[in-house]
Amino acid sequence: MTDIRKVTVLGTGVLGSQIAFQTAYSGFDVTAYDISEDALDQAGARFAALVQTYEGEVPGATGGKATEALKRITLSADLGTAVADADLVIEAVPEVLSIKRALYEKLTGLAPDRTIFATNSSTLLPSDLKAFTGRPDRFLALHFANSIWKFNTAEVMGTDDTDPTVFDALVAFASAIGMVPVPVRKEKAGYVLNSLLVPFLNAAAGLAAGGYAEPEDVDKVWRIATGAPMGPFQIYDIIGLTTPYNILSHGDDNARAIAAWLKENYIDKGKLGVASGEGFYVY
Ligand code: NAD
Repeated sequence: MTDIRKVTVLGTGVLGSQIAFQTAYSGFDVTAYDISEDALDQAGARFAALVQTYEGEVPGATGGKATEALKRITLSADLGTAVADADLVIEAVPEVLSIKRALYEKLTGLAPDRTIFATNSSTLLPSDLKAFTGRPDRFLALHFANSIWKFNTAEVMGTDDTDPTVFDALVAFASAIGMVPVPVRKEKAGYVLNSLLVPFLNAAAGLAAGGYAEPEDVDKVWRIATGAPMGPFQIYDIIGLTTPYNILSHGDDNARAIAAWLKENYIDKGKLGVASGEGFYVY
């Protein structure tokens, strides 16, 4: 049985709130679960802000459509109630294995047997989590991008144990909530997008940090020679420099040299990207 109508989202932070809202906006009944009433208050504020964002940025969201979505979201701080009748549970809790493990171990005894579990994890493979789910055949990754109303990819990636009908159901579900599904046929750290983007961004930073070319010239050659709308340093500025810095500073010698360059020339000067008003470019 893979008919998905009732969806529960676990975690209502940056991504969980977006996933819950987009799913409700697409007509599904959604339960949004978080660990405390305080967290649910914050979720309420996030959903209210998303109504404004959708009305400003999503064609057709004005005239009540975004507000209607709110009525399809039920907030809950009780895990058992939240998942009691779920066809699909999408997990978007912090990227910490012990937190995810404890949650799946509780979840498996509370959700009906038919319920599909999907993780939005960015860096853990579904294989890292499947043993805790109690249902590896009905477990896989469904990975969204931040700002899902405009960056609407959904990477679907199972393990060797994932039932192909469950995989196909999630591909169909992703389409039904307005995403462009990207089936990833074998497990791959970084899925498709980050498998491409991370080496690309690292190569660009290596050119600038090594003194081979200025960031704006690297961007220029990429735009002109490929027709791409943005160069790598424009992308860095949108992502924000802190996350790439944190990842690079745990890498090999070359990665750590790039991290040091980012820190000295940008991060220590408060140039963190678009969000801080300046990164490689001034905004
Ligand atoms: P976040 O810190 O903004 O939100 C996490 C939420 O989970 C918080 O509301 C927190 O209260 C809640 N939480 C903590 N413990 C919980 C528990 N045991 N049960 C239920 N809820 C709990 O994190 P985020 O950025 O939304 O990331 C969540 C997941 O989504 C991570 O796996 C991350 O890798 C993934 N992801 C994040 C992004 C991004 O750009 N932020 C993009 C794609 C995927």
